[in-house]
Formats: sequence, C-alpha cells, structure tokens
Amino acid sequence: MEKIKVLYVEDEIFLARVVKESLESRNFDVCLLHDGSIAQETFTRYKPDICVLDIMLPQKDGFSIARDIRSEDPDIPVIFLTAKTQTTDLKEGFEAGGNDYLKKPFSIEELIIRMNNLLYISSRLKGSTRMRSEEIIRIGRFQLHFTKQELQLENHIRKLSRRETILLEMLASQIGRPVLRTDILMKIWSDDSFYNSRSLDVYISKLRDYLSDDPGIQIVTLKGTGYRIVINNNPSQSV
Ligand code: CA
Repeated sequence: MEKIKVLYVEDEIFLARVVKESLESRNFDVCLLHDGSIAQETFTRYKPDICVLDIMLPQKDGFSIARDIRSEDPDIPVIFLTAKTQTTDLKEGFEAGGNDYLKKPFSIEELIIRMNNLLYISSRLKGSTRMRSEEIIRIGRFQLHFTKQELQLENHIRKLSRRETILLEMLASQIGRPVLRTDILMKIWSDDSFYNSRSLDVYISKLRDYLSDDPGIQIVTLKGTGYRIVINNNPSQSV
C-alpha cells in the first residue's frame, strides 16, 4: 500500500526528530520542516495527505500556514500541536475544515490515532478508494448517501452534518451488531471525554428523531457500552 504522506512543521529539533522517526517506523512518509517559511511551497511540491503543524513557530505560525494551505486544498486534514500553556479557546481560533488539536506532550500512539481518524473522515468524504466505500447504505426504508451527507426517505431528503453522517454510517454499516461508544467517540471526536460523551447522546437522539418516520428502525442503547440499530420490519436483518 502507498505510504501516507505527512507534512510536519515543528521547531523543537529533538521532538521533531523523535516524532519523524516514530512515524516513519510505522510506515508513514514524513517531510519535516523546522519553520513555516517554506511550508506553502513544500506543500505544493510534496502533496501530503495530512499536515501536522506546531502552532508556535518562527517565521510563520501554524494557523497562518494552515490558512495558506487550505486556500490551495480546502479539505486537507490538519492536526495542530499546542503547547501546554495554550488554552482551550484555541479551538475557536481556527474553524475551517477537518482539523484537530493535540496538546504537548503527546504519545506517538495518540498522534497516530488522531491522524488516522482525520484521514478516515476525509477519505470517506472524498469517496476515496483507500477505505471501504459503499456510497449508499440502506437503513429500513431510508437510504444514507455518504458523500452527499444526505438521508433519504422516498422523495424527502434531509441534509446531515458531517458528524451525523459518520455516526449513522458506523451504526448502519453493521445493522444488528453493537457499535462501541468508545469507538464512536474516538472516530468522530478523537477523544472519549465526558463532555464528548454527552454530545454523542445528543447526536443519537437527533438520529432517532430523523429515523422515526420508519417505526421499524430502532437505535437501541446498550447500557454503558454502545448502540446498535435494529430493524424490525426486515426479519433477515433483525436480531
Ligand atoms: Ca514551537
């Protein structure tokens, strides 16, 4: 399989070397820069699949780099590395597209999980062949169009958010089988904190509401562990 290409900008030389080597040992291809000055032209030439950007950098900070890069490729996934002293309202600092934040110090496993998560989301939305790609999933009388982020019942089409689409796809691609809360949280939020767990509850009730026009569909809560979709008017799929 083709290697995933990572553009990595980090001015802490030692940390940068450790992360680069760890990623390379996991079969990533890494292009490392120590400041932001040539990030944009490197991006254009190297064509990475994902960018990992320290925020505090000489010449040009991570947000400015991301802004330039996104003007060239609006969908490129970006992970920002934040220093310990930077606060949580950073999240409002950069709104665009598929990005994530990782606080230093981080483990390489954590970085890879977040990278894979963003790559998964972006490839599903692009309909890339790198991942499994069933464009339309049937759920009872509904059809979920993954790339278009639409839920269709006969002539009625509802636009879904990106997270609603991914959540419903996770549940609907294994009808009758349990999907773990932690898997959902890690895939969609890269983080299974209490706060995100409450958000997940909200998303689940929204999906229940959207699917209520087909009374045969049920999203069953498996207490403490997760959810599963059960479809009662289709005996071959029910449990
Ligand atoms: Ca720095």
